Amino acid sequence: MIGGFRIGRILGIPIYLHPTWFLVFFLVTLALSGQLQLQSPELDGSLRYTLAGITSVLFFGSILLHELGHSVLAIRHRVAVRSITLFVFGGVALMERDPDDARAEFEIAIAGPIVSALLALVFLVALRGVESGSAGHFVASWLFRINLFVALFNLLPGFPLDGGRVLRAFLWARSGDARRATRISAGVGQLLAYGFIAVGALQALEPSFLGGGRADGLWLAFIGWFLLSAASSALRQTELDASMEGLFARDLQAPVPARIAGTDPVARFARELVMRGRRWALVEEAGRLVGLVTLSDVQRLDPDAWETTPVREVATPREELLTAAPDTPIRELLLAMGTRDVNQIPIIFNGEIVGAVTRESLVHALDLRSRQAR
Ligand SMILES: [Zn+2]
Repeated sequence: MIGGFRIGRILGIPIYLHPTWFLVFFLVTLALSGQLQLQSPELDGSLRYTLAGITSVLFFGSILLHELGHSVLAIRHRVAVRSITLFVFGGVALMERDPDDARAEFEIAIAGPIVSALLALVFLVALRGVESGSAGHFVASWLFRINLFVALFNLLPGFPLDGGRVLRAFLWARSGDARRATRISAGVGQLLAYGFIAVGALQALEPSFLGGGRADGLWLAFIGWFLLSAASSALRQTELDASMEGLFARDLQAPVPARIAGTDPVARFARELVMRGRRWALVEEAGRLVGLVTLSDVQRLDPDAWETTPVREVATPREELLTAAPDTPIRELLLAMGTRDVNQIPIIFNGEIVGAVTRESLVHALDLRSRQAR
């Protein structure tokens, strides 16, 4: 869940609105305006929509504060937060990695529901300041209930909900085994998700079941489906981590496929190396390494310029290269390839490039390992 429209930056974290958010903002505003009409029929249309819109903004502002709650604690525990995105099912703060220990996991997870509970309290206090039966009363009471609901719903103990992370932190602290803790809490998350889907489907087919409408049932089933996919991908990630255990760069390192002079034309690289199945080469000048050139660097260049452009101009310069040591864990290499969008990482030993780990060799090795494990 990354991307969408960037609306600003708080605490250095870019805030995004996902395209699906606009739909849910519209639906929430519409539903609120309908309820306001029942509650205060004397309000005229434009005032009603304005009030509903403001209430919606306050609601999504509350969700944003919930995510910022997680983020503040994450930053305090040295886990970088890459983005916060509001989307159809609420909000998500994208963390760069898992926290280092169970205590950090617990604090980061519980911060969100605490913020929502505090917001509920704020709107409860505000409720006392407005006349009962008024439109302001309706707004404050709705915001009180929705924030309380957000706090309680997120405390359900299935990963990836906050409560699932709290459960994971608790199991992790008790057994010291983070992976097993993830497996159990994601398992509970899957069960919860199946429960939501079943109850939601029942409600959608038979609205008298819970006393709500068919739409509520569909909504619950959708949330269940979303949670199911998130819990399942957390489980897959755990298996992937397990398959990378004990693997280091030196285990997967392949020799440098080719070296090419920086003054050679790009066409030569394309002709002599790419044709022979080499996807990258080290670029040297006077026996010194100056960079690395890949097939995609060449593809970005207009073929008409291949004969006249020296390789050095399209290559990644030495000082910008992402490199690793032979004892770098494979997990870190995979993460770096994903975040920096590179397909190979040169391995440096004693100041010299001795080889590289490529994305293909990594995927191949992990695939082989997961087959052996089965
Ligand atoms: Zn949360």
